[in-house]
Parts: sequence; structure tokens; C-alpha cells
Amino acid sequence: MKYNSTTDKNNVVSASQAIAQGIASDGGLFVPQEIPMYTLSDIEEMTKMDYVGRAKKILADYLDDFSADEIDECVTKAYASEKFGSNNPAPLSYQKYDDIDINVLELWHGPTSAFKDMALQILPHLLTKSLAKTAPNKEAVILVATSGDTGKAALEGFKDAAGTKIMVFYPVDGVSPMQKRQMTTQEGENVSVCAIRGNFDDAQTGVKKIFTDKALIDKLAENDYLFSSANSINWGRLLPQIVYYFSAYAELVNDEKIALGDKINVVVPTGNFGNILASYYAFRMGLPINKFICASNANNVLTDFISSGTYDKNRSFYATISPSMDILVSSNLERFLYHMTNENDKKVKEWMTSLKTTGSYSVDDETAEKIKTLFVGGFCDDEKTKETIDEFFNKYGYLCDTHTAVAVNVYKNYVETTGDRTPVVLDSTASPYKFSGSVLEAIANGETIPEDEFAMVDLLSSKTNTEVPKPLAALKDKQIRFTNVVNADEMPQFVLKTLGVE
Ligand SMILES: *Cc1c(COP(=O)(O)O)cnc(C)c1O
Repeated sequence: MKYNSTTDKNNVVSASQAIAQGIASDGGLFVPQEIPMYTLSDIEEMTKMDYVGRAKKILADYLDDFSADEIDECVTKAYASEKFGSNNPAPLSYQKYDDIDINVLELWHGPTSAFKDMALQILPHLLTKSLAKTAPNKEAVILVATSGDTGKAALEGFKDAAGTKIMVFYPVDGVSPMQKRQMTTQEGENVSVCAIRGNFDDAQTGVKKIFTDKALIDKLAENDYLFSSANSINWGRLLPQIVYYFSAYAELVNDEKIALGDKINVVVPTGNFGNILASYYAFRMGLPINKFICASNANNVLTDFISSGTYDKNRSFYATISPSMDILVSSNLERFLYHMTNENDKKVKEWMTSLKTTGSYSVDDETAEKIKTLFVGGFCDDEKTKETIDEFFNKYGYLCDTHTAVAVNVYKNYVETTGDRTPVVLDSTASPYKFSGSVLEAIANGETIPEDEFAMVDLLSSKTNTEVPKPLAALKDKQIRFTNVVNADEMPQFVLKTLGVE
């Protein structure tokens, strides 16, 4: 199976090239040229497999230049039970909110307590194998700009991965205290972490500049290094996310919540549109999905896009209590548009160019209608998010984080307005302990909240009678290793200095 760029169909590469390169040379994103189709009996087969078995099947169908042994090794290492606490890294938790049944898909049992682990635990394995096939004898330098969760998950995934070095840049005042602590204490010989004076966009722009800095690229090449990317535009991050939708469906069948062939709705707290796009690929592969419910926080650019067909990032940016969804340019929407226009690379290029130059674009009426028949958008602000955390916990006994709460609130409104009671899979994307301060504020009824992050974590645990994830608890005793802070324009020098290339 080959992959081509969303903005140039003639730009065609193999699976391993798509993963090694990350982004297409014309600036587009790689998409598969065919989408494998599963029948209900294929899905029935999956009900008898464990998560690793399901992942092997799906990855093998997309990565045809990987051998079965290679895929086996990647999947088995990534989803080992030591890493995710059990042999099901993506368990369902059956909850009720008012009289609404919510099947919560908990995607945060990995080493960094956020759903990014589902992809970033396997990406390093896929990437090192892809590099060995396409650029042997080179060492990969992975650069990551992060608003918190991606950086830590990438560090943890790439730590001591042979043939790689990883550097993470984060905005000095733009991440939660726990997220900062997670990154600055990171272990591993091949990792470095650097704070940027500026916001997330400054860090992201800095990384993008480095990726296209010819002089810098050449200097690295002389020393047998090449740049690569671990952010969610890489196909190697999207593909592993398709697996948990099939897995959740198989579990619902096994637990007799649905019958094989029944439709489900999915609800996804969305930022970059990667997670919800993975569910759309699952649908195209034959998973019976009725509606995709796209939940946003106050940065509701996607809600407006789904209802109007116009994407407009010229609007205020809000720093919310669900920071991993504070985003105005959802990169993976580009892949979705490519598929929704029946693979029209010209249109996608036109819209993406308009987005870059004017900050907005409008899709044609036909595409807008098509999107609306499948997708529903909704959003909620911080107040509603906290109310939802409070009610879901204090009335119904389930503790969730701020991102998940946005999804719960949007879903509850959806059911109330439409009456659609199709069984649901609702993604829970982070452990509440990653955002202890906001979660405590939501459930504490005015009680004083300690300032120290670990005191907050302990209070949350004693108040809710839930367990602190072990990797978060362990941070308290870890030494801070990285204290660098630089201006965004000093990032190239930081890279060279870290590599010992002057
Ligand atoms: C990254 C992230 C999201 C958004 O996921 P996308 O794939 O970017 O839409 C939601 N919640 C949490 C906790 C995240 O870390």
C-alpha cells in the first residue's frame, strides 16, 4: 500500500517513508491510497483477540513494507502490560450520568497518564524500523514542540531508543506544574528538554523553522543526523489510534452491551483532530459508527466549522483548564477534508493555502453537507466543565479530568437535544491527576486547595478515594535534570550545542 500527499496526489511514498519523513515534501500530510475494508466476520474475529492481536492485524494491513515479525515486535513492546498496567491498555468503564449510559474508553493508563501514550509508545518502534529501511546509518533527531502532554509522552516513548535523540521545547509559562515536572525530571541518555520564553506557537514556529533551515539540515547531514517529527501529523501516530476504536467495539460485543453489527456513536474531546480522525478511519474500514461527536472547549473553531462549513482561526485564543485542546489550527482536519472531497488534492491545497494566507477558508456546499450528516460539533466553557466534573463525581461516582468532562458535557447536551440513544464510546483522554488543581476546584465546594502540586495530588486522592497513578506519584522524588530557558530564536543553537555539532 502506498501513501500520497493530501495536497499533491503525485507525491507518492511507501509506508516506511511516510513515517520516516513525517510530513510530505510539498507540505501536505500523508494519507493511505486505499483503506482496508473489514466485514462483520472480521470484526467478530477481533472479539476473540486481545489488544495486541487487534493492533497487529490493523497495523499489518497498513504497513505492507513491514514484515509480520517487525510488526509483532513493535506492538508487543509498545503495549506490554508493565507499561499500561494490564493486557488491555484501553479498557472501558461503564458509567451512568442522569439516565444516560456512558461507555467511557479510558485511554490514559500508560506511562504518562494521557492518551498520547497510545500512539507514542509505539511510534519510536515504527520510526526506527522505518529509518532503517529508508535512511540506514543515520541517527534521527526528533524535535517536539509541546503544550504539555505530547512532550512528555514523546520523551517517555523515545527514551534510550537506539539511533534516536529527542529534544522537547515547551513554553516556559504555558504548561501545568505537573506537566513541567514530568518533563524536567525525564530520564534517558538521549533526551533533552528546553523551555522557551514565549507561548506554544513560538515553540511550534521555532521547530518548523528548524525543519526547513537548509544550512542547519546540511550541517546535521555532515554528521550523519537527520531531523524527524513525533507530532500528530505523522501517520505513525494516527494509525495506532484506529486500533482502540475496533478494540472498544469488540469489548462492547463481548460484554453484551451491543450485538455484532449494531451502530455506535463516538464522542471525542478534540484539539488537533487526530483522535477523532482515527475513529473516522475505523468507520471507513467498516466499523459501524452512526455519529461522530466532536467536543471542544471555549476554543470552538471546530464547532463553528462543522455547523457552517467555514473554518476561521481569526478569533480570540482562550487559555482554558483543558489546555491540550487550546488550539486554533487543527492540523489533521486536512486529511479529513481530503477524504470528504473524494480525494480532491486541488481543493485541499486551495483551502490550506487560504488558511495560511488569510486564516480562513470555506468548503463547498456539497462537502459541508456531507460533513454535517456524519459529524456533530459542540463546546463548553470552563464553568460548565467544572460543573460536569463535580456532578459526574459527586452524584454518579466517576472522577474524570477536564478534557473528558468537556466531552461528557457536550454529549449530555447532544442526547438531551436529539434524543439519540445509540450506544456510545466516549474517549477519556487524561488521568484527573494530571490536572489536579482544576479537578479539585471543581469538586471541593469552596474548600482551600493547597498550592503545592503533590499536596494537591494527595488531597485529590484522599477526597475521592482513588489511586494516584504510580508514575505521577514517583515524580516527587525525582531529580530535576533540565533547567534551560532560551529565546525562540536561540533554538537552532540549542540543537547544535546539544548534539555537540558547532
Ligand atoms: C492531545 C489531547 C487531546 C486532543 O487530541 P487531538 O488528537 O489533538 O484532537 C485531548 N485531550 C488530551 C488530554 C490531550 O492530551
